[in-house]
Amino acid sequence: MTAIPAPAAITSFKAPRRTLMGPGPSDMHPRVLAALGQPVIGHLDPAFAGMMDELKVLLRYAFQTENALTFAVSGPGSVGMETCFVNLVEPGDKVIVCRNGVFGGRMIENVERCGGVAVVVEDTWGEPVDPQKVADALKANPDTKVVAFVHAETSTGAQSDAAALCALAREAGALSIVDTVTSLGGTPVLVDAWGADAVYSGSQKCLSCAPGLSPVTFSPRAVEKVKSRKKKCQSWFMDLNLVLGYWNAENRTYHHTAPVNSLYALHESLVMLREEGLEAAWVRHRDQHLALKAGLEALGLHFVVREDARLPQLNAVYVPEGVTDAEVRKRLLKDFNLEIGAGLGPLAGKVWRFGLMGHSCHAGNVSLCLSALESVLTDMGYAMP
Ligand SMILES: *Cc1c(COP(=O)(O)O)cnc(C)c1O
Repeated sequence: MTAIPAPAAITSFKAPRRTLMGPGPSDMHPRVLAALGQPVIGHLDPAFAGMMDELKVLLRYAFQTENALTFAVSGPGSVGMETCFVNLVEPGDKVIVCRNGVFGGRMIENVERCGGVAVVVEDTWGEPVDPQKVADALKANPDTKVVAFVHAETSTGAQSDAAALCALAREAGALSIVDTVTSLGGTPVLVDAWGADAVYSGSQKCLSCAPGLSPVTFSPRAVEKVKSRKKKCQSWFMDLNLVLGYWNAENRTYHHTAPVNSLYALHESLVMLREEGLEAAWVRHRDQHLALKAGLEALGLHFVVREDARLPQLNAVYVPEGVTDAEVRKRLLKDFNLEIGAGLGPLAGKVWRFGLMGHSCHAGNVSLCLSALESVLTDMGYAMP
């Protein structure tokens, strides 16, 4: 630990230059950084209102939806998650929650804090959610109000079949809550084609924007549920009925001060996504994943997730025998300014997570990562195959 300085000894903070190849945040493009640095304007300024309207259009494109209620929550992905749960789950509501990693566990916490009853469908970490188990849980619990699952589980790198899971929820008359924090912009997120009801994401993963914003979208069915609640939403800040007076009204009224500069940045990152094209962005993530995979396997490393369920933007591999996880990550950061992710929960100390998200996902970073890793592993006496 460094000693705590006296106030007079503190000068401007200078962030080191890193290459971010962990589970998020990802590197920000200079255009997005520049957008962030524009002058602040009032959150009720007509110029700002115009930008917010454009943001909604761009977010609908990113989510592939026509949902009128599509905007960015002022808060990180976790606030987007909580916004979905506090608005759609009333006390006593039964919610099927699929857990195959860290974030499904957080969904259970959210359900319980809303006074809901969580019916947990478990899958092994590293496996996608098994739709058969969800079908069985729905059959056993016909009074289920919501089915919640994580599309792209960042703790393991597993992708679940969102279309199948949303269809099961719909057939059973339940709403779906879908976590797309890591998938949006990296792999197909097709909100309308899936028939998903409440979907949240994050600004700092495959959108490569500043952390602290959570794009969300709600289907007309979800909006109906919000409007017909018996009990007021327990959160004042996240109550959609109130937030919408700012985001969706003709005559915008003050709800909270929007994170003005961060929203400029999100607007720019979405303009860049639209310029590249969603499909092209998905192909780029796929191609760079295949290049990284070839290199990691040549180093003798093994993936956690089976091939057909792997996320291109989150590559989890086992730490090889005889190598200390933390030491490798420390050297990558110190000697190469390269950040990769550690394992979480039961995978702590056992895996590394290599992110290829948004602006971080390009051939130069794949080469840097592989050569840095090879150098550190060789230095530590690891025998290459
Ligand atoms: C990162 C992440 C979150 C939380 O987002 P924050 O911006 O860190 O609050 C939620 N779900 C998934 C799948 C994530 O990867």
